[in-house]
Amino acid sequence: MNKMVVANFKMNLSLEDVELYVQQLKGNISDKVNVVICPSFPFLFMFKSDEYKVGAQNSFYLNEGSFTGEVSTTQLKSLGVSYIIVGHSERRLYSKEDNDLINNKIKNILSNNLKPILCIGETKEERALHKTSIVIKKQIEQCLKDMDKDMLSDLTIAYEPIWAIGSGLTPKIVEIEETVNYIKTICLSKYKADNIKVLYGGSVNRNNIREINNIGGLDGVLVGSASWSARGLIEIVNNIE
Ligand code: PEP
Repeated sequence: MNKMVVANFKMNLSLEDVELYVQQLKGNISDKVNVVICPSFPFLFMFKSDEYKVGAQNSFYLNEGSFTGEVSTTQLKSLGVSYIIVGHSERRLYSKEDNDLINNKIKNILSNNLKPILCIGETKEERALHKTSIVIKKQIEQCLKDMDKDMLSDLTIAYEPIWAIGSGLTPKIVEIEETVNYIKTICLSKYKADNIKVLYGGSVNRNNIREINNIGGLDGVLVGSASWSARGLIEIVNNIE
C-alpha cells in the first residue's frame, strides 16, 4: 500500500503564496505516495488535482445550522475534500476541544463518507512521567467511543507527541516504532480493526524523513512546517516512496 504524507499548513500562506505553491507542485508529486494537502479553508478550492488529495484541518460535528464561523463536513465534501484532520493538539489547546467533542466530529465525518485523521499524543510532562501509553490508550478509547470495525475502516491515526510539534525534537526511532505498534495493537484488540493506518507527526523534515520512513508498521507522516513550501513537501515525498 502507498505510504501517506499529510501536509498541514496550519494558519499559514496567503492567496499569493498558495497560487505559487499550486503551480510549483504541478507535475512534481509521485503517484507512489498518497499525498493529502490541508490548507486553510479559504484556499481549499485551489487544490484540485489528480496528483494529490485535499484535506481540511477541522470541521464542525453537525451538517448544517446556525453555527456562526463553523464549517461543516458536508460543505467540505462539496468542495472535493476527502480527509479531515481532527483532534490536533493545537485545537485541543487553543479551542479547548476534548475527546468527547472529537468523538462526535469523527462520527460526523464518517457518516459523510469522508476520512478522519485523528491526532493523538502525550505532553512533555506526561512523557517524563512515563505515561505515554496510558494517555494514548485513553485518547483512542474516548475519541473512538461507540465505534466498530466497519466504521473505522476509513480512519487514520497520527501519533503526534505534543512536545515534538514545531520544536525540532523527535522521539527516538525505536520509541516511535513502539508507540505506532502499540496504537495498532489497541485498535486490533478493542475494535478488531486490523487496517487502521498510523502516521507519525512532529518535526518531520528533510534530514530525518528517511529514517522515520523506515520505521516498521508506520504508514506515513503528518508534516507541518516542512510542508509550507512546495519544494519542502516535494522533498519529503521524494524521500518516502
Ligand atoms: C503538526 O502540526 O501536526 C506538525 C507535525 O507540525 P511540525 O511538522 O511543524 O512539527
